[in-house]
Amino acid sequence: MNKSEEKNFRIRILKEVWRVSNLNFIQELFNFPVINFLNNFKKGEKLFYIFSKLRFLIKQKAGLPWMKIYLTTRCTMNCKHCNTFLSKFTNETHTKIMNFDEFKKDLDKLLKAVDYIQILEIVGGEPLLAKDLAKMLQYAAKKHQIKHIVLPTNCTILPSKELINAMKNKKISVQISDYRNVKNIKNGVVVKYDEFKQILADNNIIYNNYQEKKGAKTWFTMPEIYKDKQNSTHLENQFKNCFARYCSGLTEGKLVICMPALYILRNIELIPEIKDEIINIRNYNSSKKLAKDIIKFYSKPYSQFCNYCHATKIETNLPCGEQV
Ligand code: SF4
Repeated sequence: MNKSEEKNFRIRILKEVWRVSNLNFIQELFNFPVINFLNNFKKGEKLFYIFSKLRFLIKQKAGLPWMKIYLTTRCTMNCKHCNTFLSKFTNETHTKIMNFDEFKKDLDKLLKAVDYIQILEIVGGEPLLAKDLAKMLQYAAKKHQIKHIVLPTNCTILPSKELINAMKNKKISVQISDYRNVKNIKNGVVVKYDEFKQILADNNIIYNNYQEKKGAKTWFTMPEIYKDKQNSTHLENQFKNCFARYCSGLTEGKLVICMPALYILRNIELIPEIKDEIINIRNYNSSKKLAKDIIKFYSKPYSQFCNYCHATKIETNLPCGEQV
């Protein structure tokens, strides 16, 4: 790794673990004993950073602040401003719903190539569409390298007994979206927010309802996406200020930098620069090589996917879950 790659990696990964762990809504979800302890000291962040750097030098593996595993791009709702652009997917471009074997294989491979994952988000589309979800949660929660698990849901599918049992784990927090005021949901889908919340409360499952607390108008428009090749200085600046730059995830074994990148990958013709950047963990036989490529992936000043991203006109304060 050259000096500038190392600097990018430090900023994007090592410092990010601290930042993510201190986000208000993450603090509400989980207790971070080490980070909370260090927060008592003026130089706590610096100490954490020195420790993380040493750990990285010894292990030569990335400790990831946040990693999503996309179980599917299918959803029971069809939101106009979905941050993963799911309403724009077609039957041909949707990913199929992941099963337990695929999940296990991908997760095992990833964990061999990274140091730890501070927060693993098991996400969709709507993750409760995956029939093996309970098994997946149980499996992931047993991995000591995974510190915390977030499961977001739109509360349109109530959890089975098996899933309720799997969610009863202090590593797991369920993030419930409040779509009670959403109108015109198609295909007879009904939002069961209150019932879902009650089930979680009755079973002492950790959950977060930050959207209910924040109010109904928390959404914003997503960037415009189209095939393009933009100037590298512009891309670097755009990336530095981008809300989604830490939302990387795995979809069918492929590592994507953010939610829009998943849409690009599945729906738009890719320029060679993007194709060269794609890491498909399923194609790796050596975890050492995968570990190196993951570090490289997070050491770039921007992602090639950003070429397609035009975040100039972002509208805020939009109602949650407006349907297409
Ligand atoms: S493509 Fe790049 S700029 Fe656009 S949302 Fe993703 S990380 Fe941000």
